[in-house]
Amino acid sequence: MMFEPVIGLEVHAQLKTKTKIFCGCSTKFGAPPNTHVCPVCLGMPGVLPVLNRKVVEYAIRMALATNCRISKESRFARKNYFYPDLPKGYQISQYERPIAEHGHIHITLSDGTVRKIGITRIHMEEDAGKSTHDPSRPVSLVDYNRTGVPLLEIVSEPEMHSPEEAGAYLRRLRSILRYLDISDGNMEEGSFRCDANISIREKGAAVLGTRTELKNLNSFRFVEKALSYEIKRQMEALKDGEEIVQETLLWDVNRNMAVSMRGKEEAHDYRYFPDPDLVPLRVEEEMIEEARKTMPELPDQKKKRFVKEYGLPEYDAGLLTSGRDMADYFEACARQVKNPKTASNWIMVELTALLNAAGKTIAESPVAPEDLGKLISLIEKGVISGKIAKTVFSEMAETGKTPDEIVGEKGLVQVTDADEIEAVIDTIITAHPGEVEKYRGGNKKLMGFFVGQVMKETGGKANPAMVNDILRRKL
Ligand code: ADP
Ligand code: MG
Ligand code: ZN
Repeated sequence: MMFEPVIGLEVHAQLKTKTKIFCGCSTKFGAPPNTHVCPVCLGMPGVLPVLNRKVVEYAIRMALATNCRISKESRFARKNYFYPDLPKGYQISQYERPIAEHGHIHITLSDGTVRKIGITRIHMEEDAGKSTHDPSRPVSLVDYNRTGVPLLEIVSEPEMHSPEEAGAYLRRLRSILRYLDISDGNMEEGSFRCDANISIREKGAAVLGTRTELKNLNSFRFVEKALSYEIKRQMEALKDGEEIVQETLLWDVNRNMAVSMRGKEEAHDYRYFPDPDLVPLRVEEEMIEEARKTMPELPDQKKKRFVKEYGLPEYDAGLLTSGRDMADYFEACARQVKNPKTASNWIMVELTALLNAAGKTIAESPVAPEDLGKLISLIEKGVISGKIAKTVFSEMAETGKTPDEIVGEKGLVQVTDADEIEAVIDTIITAHPGEVEKYRGGNKKLMGFFVGQVMKETGGKANPAMVNDILRRKL
């Protein structure tokens, strides 16, 4: 029997609105505890929530970007449960009638395969506060600054079949949120969170197997690790004839394993019901039209344009458009150069290595895209060689100087004067009669030796194509 894993993901993305979803409190991250609170988000008796219009706008944008059907009328519901970080005793969420349903996005896997993954629904809800359990003290602390921060919950269809697909789906979803500029998508800070549902079924079977749900996955690496772990565990259990028990698991970062948090019996009964304090939400056609008109170019479209406009290979275009910052960097750089593919290579190889080593994002790059473009155009114009350009590039990163400044100061301009190169070559030929004889006798590999000597003599500045030409002629 062939088994296959089935994965469905629930993502919570914090929205970048200035204020909370049902009150005017600030959503700013990192403020002293309990300073961004008011009677509404503290759940005081008698207060009334007022929906933040921006949250609806952002939800509509996300719905359009993920090809969802937008509901003209949706509803907020109360999801009841008790926990100290939830002062009202219920979370306002959407349940039976979410704002968007039936969407999909495309993901690209490492071998280039493109897959379509269904989005079941997108709904708006409020975040809960944050509890801190300090083992050294007999108390738990709770910070209500996060209470009422707007979230989008994005639920996928159970249509992914490997940790790699799940990773690609999450990255693409995050990239769309960032392109739309509606969420930071920062997993470590908790503004992009994921719960993963996993089951195993016989390949091609019509029904899904019993699932477990993995929570607390706060980095892409943990998602992929935790999924691999859980898939393996379920596969082995099934092969041994055991049954999978439906339960909620927590990924334990220290022990590298999933531990049971609660079984099906302890599952919450949330007693959902429509929130009587909020009228049904009616989304007017103009609001959708407005969102459609102001939609930015999204990753898929940008990729197509990069292939068409810059003549880039699919691979380059996919990589460069995976993040909006990277795509913007490329375009600013490519404007300065003749061949955009060279700009792509420099960004994918030299710049990426530099950023990785410095632990920086492309938005924090020490080399501005225009300056990298100028550097590349110096190679294209034959002012410096590609090899020297790499040294200039490191120097640019260290000093923040422009390529022209560095090339000027250090006298790195390429020697393209044929007479000058010829003179150097003549001296070298005279100095190495033995090698010359061997070369003329058929040992053509010695060409490399001669080129090396010329480069040594000129400090790497001689134009390589000219060196080769003249050497061949002279020898
Ligand atoms: P709940 O709200 O109780 O978590 P849902 O039906 O909303 O349950 O499903 C949540 C997620 O679990 C969805 O992403 C869905 O695709 C996924 N899912 C549901 N059943 C399975 C299953 N048998 N195997 C894998 N994923 C599943
Ligand atoms: Mg769930
Ligand atoms: Zn408030």
